This record gives sequence, C-alpha cells and structure tokens, in this order.
Amino acid sequence: LRDSRQELQQLTDTIPQQVWTARPDGSLDYLNQQARNYIGAMQAVDNELTRWQTAVHPDDLQHAWETWRHSMATGELYEVQQRLKHHQTGEYRWYLTRALPLKDEQGNIIKWLGTNTDIEEQKQITEAAEDANIAKTEFLANMSHEIRTPMNAVIGLANILAMSDPLTAKQREYIKTLQMSADSLLSLINDLLDIAKIEARTVELEHIPFNLSQIMQEIASMMSVRVREKNLNFTGDDSKLAVHEFIGDPTRIRQIILNLCSNAIKFTDQGGVHISISSAKTAKPDKHAVTISITDTGIGIAQKNLETIFQKFVQADSSINRKYGGTGLGLAITKTLVEVMGGTLTADSEIGKGSTFTVTLLLETPISTKKEKPTPHGSLSSIVEKSMSSYKQSVLIVEDYAPNVLVASVFLDEFGYSHDVAKNGIEAIDKIRNIQYAAVLMDVQMHGMNGLEATRLIREMEKQQNRIALPIIGMTAHALAGDKERCLSAGMDDYITKPFDPADLKDKLSRLLSKKAA
Ligand code: ADP
Repeated sequence: LRDSRQELQQLTDTIPQQVWTARPDGSLDYLNQQARNYIGAMQAVDNELTRWQTAVHPDDLQHAWETWRHSMATGELYEVQQRLKHHQTGEYRWYLTRALPLKDEQGNIIKWLGTNTDIEEQKQITEAAEDANIAKTEFLANMSHEIRTPMNAVIGLANILAMSDPLTAKQREYIKTLQMSADSLLSLINDLLDIAKIEARTVELEHIPFNLSQIMQEIASMMSVRVREKNLNFTGDDSKLAVHEFIGDPTRIRQIILNLCSNAIKFTDQGGVHISISSAKTAKPDKHAVTISITDTGIGIAQKNLETIFQKFVQADSSINRKYGGTGLGLAITKTLVEVMGGTLTADSEIGKGSTFTVTLLLETPISTKKEKPTPHGSLSSIVEKSMSSYKQSVLIVEDYAPNVLVASVFLDEFGYSHDVAKNGIEAIDKIRNIQYAAVLMDVQMHGMNGLEATRLIREMEKQQNRIALPIIGMTAHALAGDKERCLSAGMDDYITKPFDPADLKDKLSRLLSKKAA
C-alpha cells in the first residue's frame, strides 16, 4: 500500500498541474511538488483550511466558498476559476480548480481529489480580445457620429440643388442618384451606430407612457407611399388590443416595427402586408403580454435560413439580395432591441408563400384611475385604409396637344386619379425613370419620339432595372386596322381611340391597375 501510494505521489509530481487532496471538510492533507512550490509546503497543522483562505484572492473567495458548499451538499464536481497567490512573490495568477469527492460505501465523502491548472495566459488573451472588441466598437460609434455630420450637409445641399431651376434632364438624373446614394449611406451609418451601441451594451431604453395604436397608425401612414408604389395591400388589426396605453420606449418600438414592415414590403411584389397587434393580461395586473405580428405574401425564407437571418451581415440569399439590396443588419438590430426589452422575435416562413415575424413584449401599463385617452384617429384598420385611399394613384398623360391633355386630365380627376403631363416621348421616359406612376396614357402620334418608340424604350428600361411593368394605354386618333396590334407589339397593355369614351377609359384603367395589384 505504501509503495503504491509513493508511486502515485511520484506520478502527481511529474504532471505540470498542481494536485492536492483534502479531508471531507476541505482542509488540505496532501500537495504535490507543483502545489508546494506555488502555495507553500504543507505545515504540520491539523487543519490546512486556512491555507485556502490565504491563497485565494479575496475577491474570488466568496464564490469559491459558495461553490464548495454546493459540492459538499450534492457531491457534484467542484469547479471554479480563481486567482491564487504565490506564497513567496505574492503574485496572483488565474487557476482553474477542479475537485471530485471520493466516497465510501455508504456514500459519505471521505476525501477530495483536486487539481489547479494555470489559465493565466488564456485569461489574458480573452481579456485582450474583449478590450480590442470594446475599442473597435467605440471606434465604430465615433466614426458613425463623425460621418453623420458631413452627410447631413451632402443630403441637405443635394435637396436644395434638386429644387433649383433650370436643370437639364441629365443633371436631374445625377442629382436623383446623388440623393438616393446619400440616403442609403445615411441609413447604413445609422445601422452601424445601432450595432455599435448594441455591442457596447449602451442602448438606453426610455420608460415613458405611449399609445401603441398611435404608433401603428404613424407607421401605416409612413409606409403607405411605398405600399402604393408597389401596388400592395396593407391592412392592420388592433381589435384584440385590450389597452392602448403602455410604458416603455416608443422610439425603439417604432424602430422595431418599422424595420419589420420595411422588410415585409421590400420582399413582397404581389399581395400585401398585414399587421396585427393583440394583448393579454398576465398574473401581474400592471403587465400585459403584447404580440405584434407582421405577415407578408412575399418571397419567403427557406427553413434553413430562418435562424441565420438574425445574425449581423447575413442575408438569406445573395442572388435575391442583389435585386433587393440591403446590408443584413436590420434584423440583427431588431432582434437585439426586442431582447434588450426582454421580449422575443421569431420568424415563420414558407418559400414563395410569405413570412410572418412575431414580436412579443411584456409591457407595463400605467396604473392610473384616469380613463384611457381614446386613440386619436379611430381603429388601426380604418387608419391604414385612410392613408391608403388618401394616396391618389398618379397617371402620366403623354400628349403633345394641349386640349387633349385637358380632356384626359378632367376625366382622370373625376375617376379619382391624380395626373402628371409629359409633352413627348423623351420627357415621358425621363419622368418615368424618376417618378413612380400607376399607369401611363400614351399618345401614339407625337412629334419627336412617338408613343410606340417611347413604349419600347420604357419596356427596355424596366427590364434593365428589374422594374415591374408599368401599365401603358395607347391613345390613337384613328382606329386604323392594325393600330391595336402595333400598340400591343410595342409593349402597350391596351389602347383607346380618340375622342375617347370616358367609361371605356375608366374601365381599362381600373382593370389594368387591379391586374397589377393582384
Ligand atoms: P437586409 O434587409 O438589409 O438585407 P435584414 O437583416 O433586415 O437585412 O434581413 C436579413 C435577410 O432576411 C434579408 O436579406 C432577407 O434575405 C431576409 N428577410 C428579412 N425579412 C424578410 C421578409 N419579410 N421576406 C423575405 N425575406 C426576408
């Protein structure tokens, strides 16, 4: 027995770790060579407990004791990271201490067998990496701030430039591109700033009362233009919202819903987007579980990508994303914001059918005896409808003969459309490139570029820019045989003869527009 004990002790002296054994109460009764070198030789004391207390860094002692007590009670593996003091130099190094209890037949602990492994270097590397990450985040935050100031000047001046007169068509096009690039750069910088704040854990949440239905209404009217441009449906339902007033951070909640709605509209070309909000009581009277779902009938997301899309800079499909643009930051920001608020964000989707993003939040409600203020503009569905219908669809009249323009514009006004005028094919193409119209009334015979040629060029441009085909109705003075064919083969959707029958024009326009929206 003595031989095998000596063999074992020699073995423990050959390994680089410190090895020790302790009595059931934790008092040390054996240290290998490495342990003796570091924490000092065993003294002839009965109770070696004090050695632990003097060797462990005072800041780590509490945690070590708690873990020890837990292991004593349960017999589970004892494992802590702690700083241990060198008995001569007084220097502390990080160690991983692990110990397992040896038990007798009755299950009583008779001994602890433990090791201390030096993890100082690992700790230093991790700390350096964390410091570097913080430095990077600070740099990102500072740079984003710095870039925003000159960007505001660029955007402001581009806007002023766009309003100056006269401008050639080319100049207008350049300014438009400048404005669009500056806008997307600014939104990228804002996203980066958000990411930096999130990584530095400096997102500060407000805690103020707000009206959730009102936020939804604001979002509905902000989105209505884009929804109209893409000819989508946009519906909302807040009828299952038991209360409307909550306490929280309305700016961040607006940002979360806006991000999800923008994605839903961006990735949907047909059908529409539906927002629904509901709330349920919880065990606590001043807390409500609020659920916000944004459902679209868009391109959908493959099952395998449903998890990764929430990561930074990740997009579901690079080929699809070349078409839609974006940076892959939106969902990462949105999910983190939801989680900072203690909520969850989940996605459910089927490729080709559409997606649903669901936010759940536990929101406080004001404890007030006052009656809740009514939502200013009625229910969510009605406001969505209102902001949709107040947006008149605009029809471009391409016609070089002023009296005809007048006639067409009066009818369009009567049918509930707004209108714009281009005097020839070239002007029409320029306008269509820059402005989103619902449809075009195109005169076929015009000086300069005629309607057929203009239509061909418009179709070509749409193909190049991956745009949805704009409904174009040709207008001809004489219903010559073959006119219809010429119009259709140039790429028009339909044609009418002048002087036109108002009912015919109304019918053809609404048919084409509903076809586009379907
Ligand atoms: P971005 O839109 O800038 O690419 P996001 O983080 O907002 O970045 O979204 C990440 C990716 O998730 C998108 O690129 C897209 O592939 C996918 N995605 C997000 N929302 C939808 C949606 N409503 N329908 C289809 N795909 C979506």
